[in-house]
Amino acid sequence: MKLFTPQFTRSSLAKLLTTLFVAMPLLPAAAQSPTAAEGTTSLHDLLEMEKQATDIWKAFFPNLDIARKAAISFHANLLESDYEGGFLVLQLDAREMERLRRFGFRFEPATEFIERRNRALTQFQIEAARRASSGGARAEPTAIPGYACYETVEETFAAADGLIAARPTLGSWVNAGPSWLKTQNPASGYDLKVLKLTNSAVPAPAEGKPKLFVNSAIHAREYTTAPLVLEFARWLVNGHGTNADATWILDHHEVHLLLHANPDGRKRAETGLSWRKNVNNAYCANTNTRGVDLNRNFSHSWNTTSGQGSSGTQCNLTYRGPFAASEPETRAIEGYIRSLWPDRRGPNPSDAAPADTSGIHLDIHSFSQLVLWPWGDTATPAPNGAALQTLGRRFAFFNGYSPTQSIGLYPTDGTSDNPSYGELGVAAYTFELGTSFFQSCSVYENDIKPKNLPALVYAAKVVRTPYITPGGPDVLTPSLGGTASTTGVAAGTVVQLAASATDTRFNNSNGAEATQAIAAAEATIGTPPWAPGAVPVPLQAVDGSFNANTEALSGGLNTAGLPVGQHIVYVRARDASGTWGPVSAVFLNINAAPPLVVAEVEPNNSPAQAQVLGTLPVVVNGSTLKVARELRSDPDFFGFSLAPGRTLTATVTPGGPAIGVTLTLISATGAVLAQSSAANGQPHSLNWTHTGSTAVNLSVRTSAAVRAGTGAYSLELTD
Ligand SMILES: [Zn+2]
Repeated sequence: MKLFTPQFTRSSLAKLLTTLFVAMPLLPAAAQSPTAAEGTTSLHDLLEMEKQATDIWKAFFPNLDIARKAAISFHANLLESDYEGGFLVLQLDAREMERLRRFGFRFEPATEFIERRNRALTQFQIEAARRASSGGARAEPTAIPGYACYETVEETFAAADGLIAARPTLGSWVNAGPSWLKTQNPASGYDLKVLKLTNSAVPAPAEGKPKLFVNSAIHAREYTTAPLVLEFARWLVNGHGTNADATWILDHHEVHLLLHANPDGRKRAETGLSWRKNVNNAYCANTNTRGVDLNRNFSHSWNTTSGQGSSGTQCNLTYRGPFAASEPETRAIEGYIRSLWPDRRGPNPSDAAPADTSGIHLDIHSFSQLVLWPWGDTATPAPNGAALQTLGRRFAFFNGYSPTQSIGLYPTDGTSDNPSYGELGVAAYTFELGTSFFQSCSVYENDIKPKNLPALVYAAKVVRTPYITPGGPDVLTPSLGGTASTTGVAAGTVVQLAASATDTRFNNSNGAEATQAIAAAEATIGTPPWAPGAVPVPLQAVDGSFNANTEALSGGLNTAGLPVGQHIVYVRARDASGTWGPVSAVFLNINAAPPLVVAEVEPNNSPAQAQVLGTLPVVVNGSTLKVARELRSDPDFFGFSLAPGRTLTATVTPGGPAIGVTLTLISATGAVLAQSSAANGQPHSLNWTHTGSTAVNLSVRTSAAVRAGTGAYSLELTD
């Protein structure tokens, strides 16, 4: 597990450094004068400072459990993990080393790590000098050098802009507030922009749509986090209309994505610096450890652990700031969280939020392969601890990480779950993705992304009632028989549904979750099962009885009366404890019914003789046009009935260039309601809307005008 594995090329590095001249005047270029806010230290010197940090240790742990707890408590110090090799690489001062020794750690200088790091930093410096002397062209970078899979801050926003532009009814930006740099100079820094995703064409119920809030990259160097959340946005937006689950999630929920919670710091990390905090230059000015650890600066439990869970030293990586929510980024996130959800938790630490509390807050970090939930400042379980644990074990089923309460060897305070869970009672989690800050693209693409995307999708599926639904079974691979999900079927077709339900999908690596037998399953068409008007269709166990943790399901869906178009079939299952699990969905496509084709039958020369047609739509003579006998003197009458509110369309297609056919719509009393004709050989139509309240009997008269010999036509009637 290697943290510092620089993969940049000379040319990609050149692109990066070019940008630094433009966006961050850190280099001593003649035309640039550094601003006080951005700092007075050159990039060369910042990189040199990073080399001077030699208080880095191979910390050999006594056992894996202690190692994982240390990874929680000493996350800010962690530089590399090698669980199989039995050690973590940590940057530690004497006091921190003593705190780890108490748990059986022993230390060796991390010589190899330091040498490897310094070689990489020297390459950055050489390239910076080369660029400075050549006064090279200035351009935005196309990626982080060596890490093309991770979007820069600008690329992240551009990608989200693209999603909004492609599907404006699904996405919009909400500005949560400015970054620290922007508070110093409106022309610099960033807004903390939240990508809000929901189908605005589907109105919200009175209580509002359930809300999932995800923030990422609050710690700048954690490369994988914002790209993963951006990928989740792509899955939702691009999937709406083509993936049934993405469709119902966005139709009936809001997903709020703060992709860059610390954009100023992230720009520093994009240069190769191991940047964690924001860039507030009032603290530990002009160094690589300036600023405040935003994830120790939140209000609810700020500085509540007597200095164990955060630092009061400005240059420390867990510096908590001078007072609660001192930083603009923290205030923006807290304010946004409070705007999303009501407060449903009482004032005492032991007050549980009600079981039906809606909403989930996910704070995406790297690294350590953990799924964490409150509390982090005490070993006492949170009052909603059992339910938080159940959902945590569901998340960890997907990503394979260790699910645990976020208390490590020592407490942490002022963390991001304080406004969401601590204040409001909303289910809050921290994911620690992967195995390093500057994770290689191959690990990100092949492991982190495919394993964590389903966890984010699951969060959206259960966000309506996250303290209840995760206890219920999952429905897997729902499918419809025949062409029902592809080219479609006519309304009235009975469609066979197949799926499976299972209550077993928990990560039991840290205590086993109780599971139950599947007890029931149901499907609804068009209306989700929680909404008024849903008509559930019970599904059956394929083996004849519901009595196992996993059951194959089947059922027949009656599609009579469904309008033409795409419908969502919602499927869910209930376990023996009575808990319904989340929905999985599949599309059902209803086609227009194919018209009945009939042949003209004589005699039909008067209204009294009118040939009675069946239910519309109907085609007279079909693709084989009527031939030979149809003369000017032989009008044809066709009778049918039209329901109230329907519009009749009658289209005639002459059988040759010399043939013209007049259409006349006649009421039961002989009144002419509509008429249509066109030049010989040209198809034409008449339309007539029945505004009455009861079905009406009508007839259509065709009258063929023929220049030579015979008349022929095809007539199509639809409503
Ligand atoms: Zn972090």
